[in-house]
Amino acid sequence: MRSLIAVAALAFCACSTASDEIAAIDPTQPISAPPIARCMNMGSALEAMYEGEWGYTVRREDLQRIKEAGFDTIRLPVRWSAHAMDAPPYTIAPAMLSRVKEIAGWAEAMGLNIIINVHHYDELNKVPDQHELRLEAIWDQLAAAFASTPDHVIFETLNEPHTNMSVARTDALNKRLMQRIRYDNPDRWVILGTANWGNLDALQASRPDYDPRVMLTLHNYSPFEFTHQGAPWADAPRTDIRWGTRTDLKEMRADLDDTVEVQNRLRMPVFVGEYGVYEGVPIEARVRWTRAMRTEMDARGLAWCYWDYAGSLKAYDVERERWIPELKAALLD
Ligand code: BGC
Repeated sequence: MRSLIAVAALAFCACSTASDEIAAIDPTQPISAPPIARCMNMGSALEAMYEGEWGYTVRREDLQRIKEAGFDTIRLPVRWSAHAMDAPPYTIAPAMLSRVKEIAGWAEAMGLNIIINVHHYDELNKVPDQHELRLEAIWDQLAAAFASTPDHVIFETLNEPHTNMSVARTDALNKRLMQRIRYDNPDRWVILGTANWGNLDALQASRPDYDPRVMLTLHNYSPFEFTHQGAPWADAPRTDIRWGTRTDLKEMRADLDDTVEVQNRLRMPVFVGEYGVYEGVPIEARVRWTRAMRTEMDARGLAWCYWDYAGSLKAYDVERERWIPELKAALLD
């Protein structure tokens, strides 16, 4: 589903990208070192309508465990749109803000970075005209709420824009959000995502302004038919797809080479903000793909974030309170 919509959206965006409106990129500009190397996505918690609804609630000890395993960052997907007023001034519910601040405080105490994003803003993707101002107001509040926190807090403006959020529209919105965020967070690292569900082809068409404290991001679940086979929310019904031939590996490498090419061209580090394989896929196959991805990203110096800790692509089994050892090894050994 995700991949099919992707192609249609791109056909539109490539022609509407106003590349001549952005400042020219200096090809000798050094690319900043990203503050992240190995990151874990805390999916299925605050991305649900209410934390716990999808069976997982973030616990302090989870962050401790993630840190001790060797990760330096967590990414916290948050469905802010379900916790903000529908009309101006679009006030965010104080309880939600406090909860995210609590988790950010745990991360700080443990020496972990935390990426705070806006996840599952479905209404914005459907009717951007009615929701862009609301997202801007949400970011005004988040930028102010975290302005005095240390650098370990990293912002990510919008997860996987799609449908009516074209590349050009996402770039323009990101530009406005950056102006707002930079008002009281002049040096904070900010991650900018792309349209087309965060796919590589959208990032290749994206024309973000250069900023020395910006990372660009994309998601890599390729081939989607393999990584999402049988997942109830995905349109990937065949469950006999395997991965690992020479051609498969060649394609993975080519995508990652293209990812590095974007980084070199736009002079900003690219962060692979999500990758992983659905838990219904046999463990050997999950491990083969994950290990190959991780090794190939490390070889190219690309920062990454595994999806996810305790959700449907989990590396940690909350019921048995233990890491899935083969996956942990694929990520870290
Ligand atoms: C979605 C999750 C989903 C994951 C893998 C994320 O962007 O928010 O709900 O499990 O992608 O498909």
